[in-house]
Amino acid sequence: MSGEFDLISRIAARVSPRPDVVLGIGDDGAILRPPAGSELVIVTDTLNSSVHFPESTAARDVGWKALAVNLSDLAAMGAAPAWCTLALSLPAPDDVWLDACIDGFLALAARHGIALVGGDTTRGPLSLTVTACGFVAPGTALRRDAAKAGDDIWVSGTLGDAAFALREVLQHRSCADELRSRLDRPTPRCMLGQSLVGIARACIDISDGVLQDLGHICVASGVGAEVRLDALPASAALAAQAEGMERWRLQSAGDDYELCFTADPARRDAVSALSESLGVRLTHVGRIVAGVGVRVLDADGLEVQLRRGYEHFG
Ligand code: ADP
Ligand code: MG
Repeated sequence: MSGEFDLISRIAARVSPRPDVVLGIGDDGAILRPPAGSELVIVTDTLNSSVHFPESTAARDVGWKALAVNLSDLAAMGAAPAWCTLALSLPAPDDVWLDACIDGFLALAARHGIALVGGDTTRGPLSLTVTACGFVAPGTALRRDAAKAGDDIWVSGTLGDAAFALREVLQHRSCADELRSRLDRPTPRCMLGQSLVGIARACIDISDGVLQDLGHICVASGVGAEVRLDALPASAALAAQAEGMERWRLQSAGDDYELCFTADPARRDAVSALSESLGVRLTHVGRIVAGVGVRVLDADGLEVQLRRGYEHFG
């Protein structure tokens, strides 16, 4: 058992430095040196136990996911990750739990070269709030308000694995590791996001379900969208477990942390080349149209009514 300052020292002892961190953990504030001439993108996301992850989630995965969802927001902006802070609320000071949580957090941080430069450690219900910063060249960030009628709509990776795993966990059923890992250890599309600068028009990360998140692009851009449900990319593991409407519901439920972006059809070759060079599946799932709202079509082109995704106070 440790006190607050021992817990902080345990974290501070393990972070890797970056040359642009003038002063990291240990003072009242961190001192950071952004590259001259770049714009700073800042994102924040909280994970609350039982709301954003099942109580049974391993400590290591809790740490990983807290950073992953924030890296996913930076990816959706096209930003290169640089620094982050972690505000941690713990019910009890538990060294073993904390070390495992920080293991997961720092393992993902190392992959993306993001430095942990500060945070806060308090007692309370288990909750993690991460703030992450990244850089973009001025005026190049990927925004929600840039879609145009006629754009293709693209989705990265596959959708629905995490929602399937969550359903199984909540119903106390076991679930294949490859599906469970998509719930517990999402892989933020940081390289894809940065590479989409200059190719994509609008972009968002899929946290609350592809239809709902695409709806945010439509509202911000003043356009509508048509999505073909049979085009939504599914992993082989999910396809083996669910089909038809059941699969489509899972694929629009959220927690995917993939990117949904729009691009001029003239950029199809560039999108394919990017998919090839990054080894990330990119699937054309629909098009942006004049008007409002997201229309959802089945394989026969008939409109389908489907719950849009997750809302905290919905
Ligand atoms: P203060 O009371 O001045 O806010 P704290 O005692 O909360 O300072 O924090 C001391 C130092 O440890 C600060 O640099 C803070 O950013 C860092 N810190 C505290 N908690 C965490 C954490 N969970 N992860 C990373 N850094 C932390
Ligand atoms: Mg202080």
